[in-house]
Amino acid sequence: KIVCVTGASGYIASWLVKLLLLRGYTVKASVRDPNNPKKTQHLLALEGAEERLQLFKADLLEEGSFDSVVDGCEAVFHTASPFYYDVTDPQIELIDPAVKGTLNVLNSCTKSPSVKRVVLTSSIAAVAYNGKPRTPDVVVDETWFSNTDFCRESKLWYVLSKTLAEESAWNFAKENGIDMVSINPAMVIGPLLQPTLNTSAAAVLSLIKGAHTFPNASFGWINVKDVANAHIQAFEIPSASGRYCLVERVAHYSEVAKILHDLYPSFKLPEKCADDKPYVPTFQVSKEKASSLGIEFIPLEVSLAETVESLKEKEFIDF
Ligand code: NDP
Repeated sequence: KIVCVTGASGYIASWLVKLLLLRGYTVKASVRDPNNPKKTQHLLALEGAEERLQLFKADLLEEGSFDSVVDGCEAVFHTASPFYYDVTDPQIELIDPAVKGTLNVLNSCTKSPSVKRVVLTSSIAAVAYNGKPRTPDVVVDETWFSNTDFCRESKLWYVLSKTLAEESAWNFAKENGIDMVSINPAMVIGPLLQPTLNTSAAAVLSLIKGAHTFPNASFGWINVKDVANAHIQAFEIPSASGRYCLVERVAHYSEVAKILHDLYPSFKLPEKCADDKPYVPTFQVSKEKASSLGIEFIPLEVSLAETVESLKEKEFIDF
């Protein structure tokens, strides 16, 4: 079976390509720069890559760029989308590639009769940011949708880009009869396959690399292997449909710092919060739908340990 992964050099996508190859799929993978070994070497070294991995050059903003990647594939896993917080022009840097890129990929899918299902890598960013109160007794689930006005007012540009992208994707899929499923993970951590640092692993790195304070924020956390597996299950299980939130546990950064301290007592971890306001409360995210995909939900402690070990191995930390 032939499947396609967009943005294959990324953190989540690299794991997805690895697991797809291990399951025997032939993978057509899009990368922005096939001549940059930092973006391709780790993919070409995967088990099965020599026989069953094909790299294609494609850019989210180039119309028709994905036609040849998608052609002949039964599944299209669309993961490519910029994930940065530090932007100067959110429209150009985040929103355009997220939204136009998603529509571009979906448009290519309409031209290829082989495509049976599209699995979109959305985010909890497109679920939980609507201004509704979030407290420890509140259970966020797939019926929630982030509110674009709320995102704009709060200047949550990455969150806005993912919300707009998912919204446009559902509209396009409906209008064009595309069978689409979305995966909505929270902060993804766990081992890195790629040699470069991605935003969510950087959040852990910054805690252990001399930060004096931890952010006053509560996030959901999920292991990258669970995320990659959920994508594959969402394609392989015919009855899978709609959205799937993926959160093992919501934890405030104070708790994350404490777990890291317990795991690595010799590390200097921040003990103070970045502000003196009350801690942003945690909340719950329903595991019901994701459990139906057979997701394991690797515990946060294990995911954090795996992240640190991987950051050591990749020499992002030298202690
Ligand atoms: P990475 O930064 O590792 O991967 C992002 C990928 O998108 C890269 O392959 C990147 O290509 C590609 N990309 C960005 N802009 C373009 C463009 N203009 N044209 C083509 N490709 C582009 O991040 P993640 O693996 O973490 O993110 C992957 C997906 O998962 C994204 O959709 C993200 O929103 C989503 N997600 C991530 C979470 C996390 O905590 N990590 C949580 C929830 C959702 P290049 O390598 O060339 O830059």
